[in-house]
Amino acid sequence: MSEAQRGAVVLSTLRTQRQDGQKQDGAGVFQTTLRNRIGCAGIGLHTGKQVRFTVYPAEAGSGITFRRIDLAGTDGLRDADICIQACFKNISSTQLGSTLTNQAGISVATVEHLMAAFYGCGIDNARVDLDGPELPVLDGSASPFVMLLECAGITRLPVRRRYLRVRETVRVEEEGKWASLSPYDGSAFAFEIQFPAAIIGRQSFSFELSDGNFKTEIAPARTFGFLHEVEHLKSLGLALGGSLTNAIVLDGESILNDGGLRFTDEFVRHKILDAIGDLYQAGAPVLGRFEASRAGHGLNNKLLRALFNTPQAWEYVEAPQGVSYPSPAAAPARLRRAARG
Ligand SMILES: [Zn+2]
Repeated sequence: MSEAQRGAVVLSTLRTQRQDGQKQDGAGVFQTTLRNRIGCAGIGLHTGKQVRFTVYPAEAGSGITFRRIDLAGTDGLRDADICIQACFKNISSTQLGSTLTNQAGISVATVEHLMAAFYGCGIDNARVDLDGPELPVLDGSASPFVMLLECAGITRLPVRRRYLRVRETVRVEEEGKWASLSPYDGSAFAFEIQFPAAIIGRQSFSFELSDGNFKTEIAPARTFGFLHEVEHLKSLGLALGGSLTNAIVLDGESILNDGGLRFTDEFVRHKILDAIGDLYQAGAPVLGRFEASRAGHGLNNKLLRALFNTPQAWEYVEAPQGVSYPSPAAAPARLRRAARG
């Protein structure tokens, strides 16, 4: 398929979705899944090897699950053993991304950018089959995942969605870095980073999920690293797939990528992208305000564990009855208006 034909397919899919959105009363009140399955292949950040994955529609209440099809039938593994539920309790490592591991010890790494795309596109349920130990890094952002999900189409399921509402502030801290969740009638994110390199320096960004803005404001922001770090990781046999095609690579005060940055504050926007993906391990969209300074995947996971360990700090709520939403991601804004009466 040529680039122009592919563009035409995407455009016609988007047009159909918009028409459906106008027809569908109650989007955001009800759970969603994909309309069709869709697949893609790319290089894994850790292994540098090609991995293929397919995202399938899934039933209401099943959430996001991963399935290691390369391990099916090996070492006496049953189907349940190769399935890994996206859940903060299953996060086993936060080195170079977020890794999920199930009780059988089977893992899937680098899930955060696809998880952010699911959250940003308002998708509650999906099954992701992959034939390797990690998801492909693609261009280091969530944009290719968003494009895939949009091409597959999103459909509503006849079961009401559950939101995780933050009732009390919870905060975690580690070596001067911190992250917190506070009550808020929406899904808001604020992040601050500070790097000695002046090319990054101090950056802060605030973002609230609403209709379609994840795709334009956050999804294109790529992951980043310094050349000496990338070389060090590679000498340890890590980040073997890391390259200028899937990350912003900095050397001192210069950006090595042709074409430079996608946003002047692309670095902090990517930190918000990661936080959105990490928070979706809560198993539901979060109604609350996430704030962080210099935090990463480890602290994001610690924050969710702290929230769930504080029973009075959270509750599950449904979107108010009779309120219709233009898109799943826009639900929090409508909830706020409903709350104000
Ligand atoms: Zn990332």
